Amino acid sequence: MNPSPPHGRRGSPPPRPDPPALAGRALGALHSLAKGLARARALDPSALPDRLELRVDLDLKRGPSFEGARGLLDQIAARIEWALRAAAALRSGRVYCFFCSSSDCAHAAPPDADSVFDGYEAPGRPRWTDLPTVFLDRRDPRVDTLYGRRHLVTLVEEGPALRSGLIEAFAADARVYEILGQVVAGFFEVPSGNGRREGSAATFQVVRTATGEGRSRLRLNAVSGGALFDERGASVDPSLGRILDIARRRLASLERELAGARRRGGTEPDPTPKALSILRAFARDLEHHERAGARRTGHGRERSDAGHRPTALAFPEAREAGVDRIFADERGETLVVLGKAGRAHVFTADGRHVTSVVLRGDEVARRIRTRRWKPASPEAIALFRTGIGRG
Ligand SMILES: [Zn+2]
Repeated sequence: MNPSPPHGRRGSPPPRPDPPALAGRALGALHSLAKGLARARALDPSALPDRLELRVDLDLKRGPSFEGARGLLDQIAARIEWALRAAAALRSGRVYCFFCSSSDCAHAAPPDADSVFDGYEAPGRPRWTDLPTVFLDRRDPRVDTLYGRRHLVTLVEEGPALRSGLIEAFAADARVYEILGQVVAGFFEVPSGNGRREGSAATFQVVRTATGEGRSRLRLNAVSGGALFDERGASVDPSLGRILDIARRRLASLERELAGARRRGGTEPDPTPKALSILRAFARDLEHHERAGARRTGHGRERSDAGHRPTALAFPEAREAGVDRIFADERGETLVVLGKAGRAHVFTADGRHVTSVVLRGDEVARRIRTRRWKPASPEAIALFRTGIGRG
């Protein structure tokens, strides 16, 4: 009987290097590290990016070092930090505030039922403006309809204009919550506390969030300060819910299209044009649904009496206004006359009435402060007064 081979008795010989197994163990350790860090930061695993690409720097002379380990750890931690911010940024019903790096701060939600998102203020805070003022600023003639609260009207706005208030300091953060476009709409009828129904404006934003390694998520975020959505974010109006579902399905399919393009070519095409066309279809659906609904119920007629109409006072107040109440808008195309109780009447330079609205709170002061409205020149006032019959 031959003696058995000697190994195993006194100290095994060094194991034969098995490169695939070694690489597998190294990879396994990195996986556990990433998952462990995410758990420690209470990051929902579904919010982790699909892939993490890491730079591994092997110092073959000195062997594994503390600095090398630290470098690897920092890379993974930074990615998890990013994923946490992106997950926190996308909170249904709220708009990300770059100033506070949060969607939980007071700036992230509309202050009242009439307010919609109107871009960012200089330090990166969301600006909220009442819906009629948004239409007024864009010289949209439907502002009268809106103020009478007779119909639901919508406006599609493109991302670059909405993001323009973000200063350079936030550029690195911009992909946390990137608004590709939005629809502002109002007024929806929602139940109010005392059994009546009242109007509520809403903002519907297509938001892109980068989840890491170039992958984009697209969401349709519905934001309203009124009682349009319940605490789970579901619409209290079933038709609005269905219209939202249609738009969200189209967005999900756009997201899959982007992922496919990325797999094939490595980069994503710009989804903005398609996102805007989804928003335009969404806006058309909303208006169409509302017209049909108003015909059925007659609510449209009832509401027309509810809103006050500042238009009737345009000429009387314009004729009485002193020179300190007459402003030129920043483009110099129209004059604005301030009446009483926040009324603002918009006229052409030669005194034809364009529209009138009621501005709330500090809207008038803000316009003057930001030089959107400037004191009208004596020549402009003279021409205007001739036009309205007070020469
Ligand atoms: Zn904030």
